Amino acid sequence: MDQTIERYFSDFSVPADVRSFVARPIGHFIEGKEEAATSDQIDLVEPFTGQRLTGLASGSAEDVDRAVRSARQALDGPWGRMPALERQRLILRLAEMMEADADFLAHLEAIDVGKSITDARNIDVPGAIANFQYFAGWTSKLDGRTTGAVALPGETLTYTIKEPVGVVAAIVPWNFPLQILSWKLAAALACGCTIVCKPSEQTPLSAMRLAFLASQAGFPEGVINVVNGFGHVIGQALAAHPGVDKLTFTGSTPVGTAVGKTALDTMKRLTLELGGKSPVIVTGKADLQNAAQAILSGIFLNSGQVCDAGSRVYVQDSAHDELIELLRIGAEALTIGPGLDPTARITPLVSALHRGRVLNHIETAHTQGAALVTGESASGDRREDGILRPTIFNRCAETMDILREEVFGPVLAIGTFSDIDAAVARANTGDFGLAAAVYSEDVNETIHLSRRLKAGNIYVNAHGLIDPTMPFGGLGASGFGKDMGPEQLDGFLSTKSVYVQVRDA
Ligand code: NAD
Repeated sequence: MDQTIERYFSDFSVPADVRSFVARPIGHFIEGKEEAATSDQIDLVEPFTGQRLTGLASGSAEDVDRAVRSARQALDGPWGRMPALERQRLILRLAEMMEADADFLAHLEAIDVGKSITDARNIDVPGAIANFQYFAGWTSKLDGRTTGAVALPGETLTYTIKEPVGVVAAIVPWNFPLQILSWKLAAALACGCTIVCKPSEQTPLSAMRLAFLASQAGFPEGVINVVNGFGHVIGQALAAHPGVDKLTFTGSTPVGTAVGKTALDTMKRLTLELGGKSPVIVTGKADLQNAAQAILSGIFLNSGQVCDAGSRVYVQDSAHDELIELLRIGAEALTIGPGLDPTARITPLVSALHRGRVLNHIETAHTQGAALVTGESASGDRREDGILRPTIFNRCAETMDILREEVFGPVLAIGTFSDIDAAVARANTGDFGLAAAVYSEDVNETIHLSRRLKAGNIYVNAHGLIDPTMPFGGLGASGFGKDMGPEQLDGFLSTKSVYVQVRDA
């Protein structure tokens, strides 16, 4: 391992078992065991140092085929025959093992994504565990219905049965690798499906650890598989594979659209959780101290690499000056540092490539005339550690790209409004519909606004709250289908209708 990474790990006392886990080449997890990486490898880069961490298997369509066959065998074998309460016990056992492994998992997320280890400890890992705990309880509650047929002659018994949809492919992004994978896995397992996971080629570590923990927990081999490699190879092969019954994808809108089209060629069931450009409305009746705090965490959590980040704020004229000042002070007070530093709130972006994309957005905003409140100037003066300072633009017009395009970085764009109808019209402009937030102390105003905003998730006087009981998903270009909540279960179940003609006694 490179000396710079060694120093970074020593400075933050990374445990020896984590160091050895991230230093060895990463292969696949198929048929209940980890496979060594073959000769073709992708460089896995640590975001703070920019140094190579290790090599990742660059898998092939053949690897996907083996994983799908392994998932099918598990479905036709012990997993498919397992009583629901036994499935529940295994899922809860996995959650317990994750609790025991929580600090290890948090280190993997901080090292792989570059994210704050404090957030990984407080959000990513407990969020993932809660999901398994919640969905474990659903294994025993997937009942069909007995109906009273209303239009049939004679006596009939009519009922429905819920069955697992089959083999699930889960393709996930790099921003919350463990948590988003858990959104897919927990519900799919509860429904009795088997899974082939495709983590981002930038962040495969926690998926591999999770598959290992599941095998230790006693899941039969083949129930959870992980295939690593490039999206256009592994993701594409999964989307096209006739042995996959359901595809659940989280990622960008362009890739999701292409993947969805491929999946329909073989009539797969489909869930698409895609990008966003979530609006935030701050009315003149808002508690501005609370609003500023929540807006800052809504855009700068995970250095802005959050799908439902509140990346465009519309503030009523009367509240404008005070809010801008609160946001400026708050943004400038955020501690900047590497992901492993527990005090750092703003950490490196996932890669130099992605950082370059975010910088392009910043430069365009400057060129188009947005007014910089704080953060990255047009001219450069960049840090060399992968970090971008929290950046806020004011006086943004609807014609500017910074109000329209998903930036996926620590950049907030602000516009103003004078009457509420104009705020709603501006917030509802654009193709995305993932989330929206409203700040007001007038409860009626918040209820009316919540109804009028076009988004799958609405936050009132807060941002980015996530709970396993609540379905998460978008509208329009943000995709369709839900993760979490009982609504997600339907995506992993098929309903069979049974008609029994009853003969006279
Ligand atoms: P991405 O679309 O580039 O990649 C997502 C996954 O798809 C990765 O595993 C990648 O390897 C794979 N992939 C890439 N090309 C593929 C192809 N041609 N065929 C099949 N699979 C392919 O997205 P990203 O950069 O990893 O993540 C950022 C995006 O994800 C943002 O747009 C963000 O808004 C979105 N996101 C959405 C949600 C949500 O719940 N709606 C949550 C998190 C992130």
